[in-house]
Parts: sequence; C-alpha cells; structure tokens
Amino acid sequence: AKRSDDSGIAVIGLGRFGCHLATSLTRLDHEVLAIDRSAERVQRWSSQFDRVVQADATEEGALRQLGIADFRRAVVAIGASVEASVLTVLALVELGVPQIWARATSEKHAKILSSVGAHHVIFPEAETGERVAHLIVSRLLDFIEFDQDFAIAKVRVPSALTGRSLRELAPAERYGVMVVGAKLPGERFRYATPETVLVPGSVLVVEGSIGQVQRFAELG
Ligand code: ADP
Repeated sequence: AKRSDDSGIAVIGLGRFGCHLATSLTRLDHEVLAIDRSAERVQRWSSQFDRVVQADATEEGALRQLGIADFRRAVVAIGASVEASVLTVLALVELGVPQIWARATSEKHAKILSSVGAHHVIFPEAETGERVAHLIVSRLLDFIEFDQDFAIAKVRVPSALTGRSLRELAPAERYGVMVVGAKLPGERFRYATPETVLVPGSVLVVEGSIGQVQRFAELG
C-alpha cells in the first residue's frame, strides 16, 4: 500500500540517475509518475513505477495533460541536455509546482536552474566526487557534512585513545568533537556516555567540523 498522506512525485528523465531515484522513491512507498520522451526508455521501465509515460517535458501543455499541476513535488533528472532540463523547470514553474528539484551537471547549469525557479538544485556528480575524495584520503568510514562547521562521521577508535573512558578523554575539550555513539565489534551502536570506554576495534560516531573529526580519526 502506498502512502496516502501525500501526493505522488513526478520524476522526469529516466536516465541512470532518474531510474535510481524513481526506484528508491518507489521503495520508500511513494507514488511515482515517471516521464521520458524516449519510447524505448518508457517501455523498459513501464512495469517498475506506478505510471510511466512518454512525453516531451519541455512542453507545458503535455505536462498539464498529465496532471502535473496537481503534484506537490517534481524532480527534473535530465542531465545531458541543459536546454531540455532548463525548459522543463520553466514549464514546472509555470504550472506552479511548489517543490521543484532539478539536477545540474555543471556549476553554470546549477546557476541557471536556480535563476529560472528550481527550489532545490542537486549536483550528484560533484557531491559524490567530493564525498568519495574525503573517504579515500581520510580515515573516515562514512560522514555527512551539514555545513562548513558541522559534520557527523563514523570512525574507527583511534588506537592512541583505546582503553580509556570518555570522561577521562574529554574529547570535546581536547579535540573539539563530541562522541555520540559507540559500537563494539559484532554489536549495535549505543549512545555514548561518560563511562563509555574506547575498546580497540570498535567504531564511533562523532560530531564536529569536518576538519576536527578528520584530525580525531587520524589520532591513531
Ligand atoms: P543520466 O546521466 O542520468 O543517464 P541522461 O541525461 O543521459 O541522464 O538521461 C536523461 C533522460 O532524460 C533520457 O532518458 C532522455 O530520454 C530524457 N529526456 C531528455 N530530454 C527530455 C525531455 N525533453 N522530455 C522528457 N525526457 C527527456
């Protein structure tokens, strides 16, 4: 059963990115209307999403006929053609869709999408590239950076700190990071307390600036 608390989500452009997105939204129990101008793509994905239709999304009339004006959220996943992506965003703006997400493939593309009225611009290649660079060169196992000065990261217990409790280590004062969770080998994450002892081989969740969590992870 799909969620009924909300209208569906229109996904425009069934390239690699659009298909992954539509698949994830479907798994999250959201109704997806998928649109592509290629008959072959539509055919290929027709049984995977709730509705899969062939249309040129740059045409406002075509989108209107599909009922897009009633959607609260639409994602323009077209990448290769900047023109098609911009014209599609414009059509969605004209139709008054309140939450337009648009995918950019370059900085300039991103600027244009914002200036024509996209509410959220995503740049998956740049974001993933930056993220993977951090994972490769740092000792972070995983991280999310919310803002320049705030990130949450998953790190191995630095060997220099093992065998001591968080009360003794005072990582907030000493390293500027908060240890919020700890996971012993083979166990689940638990919230950290001052009594939590850093056991070799366990994994921590820490908060701080990306620089601080990186320096913390490199302590051993
Ligand atoms: P990816 O890099 O994710 O594979 P592409 O840009 O190669 O993305 O694919 C974009 C998809 O968007 C293609 O399936 C293409 O047919 C579709 N598309 C391009 N222009 C339009 C348009 N005007 N209307 C609808 N779909 C479009």
